[in-house]
Amino acid sequence: MAVTKVEIEAGECISCEACVAECDAVFEMGDDAAVVKAEAQNPEFLAAHTDGIKAAVEACPSSAIKVEEA
Ligand code: SF4
Repeated sequence: MAVTKVEIEAGECISCEACVAECDAVFEMGDDAAVVKAEAQNPEFLAAHTDGIKAAVEACPSSAIKVEEA
């Protein structure tokens, strides 16, 4: 299964930067929470980084990263 969509629940993010450490192609830190990079917001890009995104989901201490797979 490849990741096709990623969202971060900003209200749940505690800005620990673990997702950025796991997959900085997709995640970066915004002002108050991690965000998905603009250039990463397309299914083909996300699919190519599926392993890193799943590692970020595992590493996130607050379950703030929501993914869809296809
Ligand atoms: S790993 Fe989770 S809590 Fe930490 S910065 Fe990323 S989204 Fe926020």
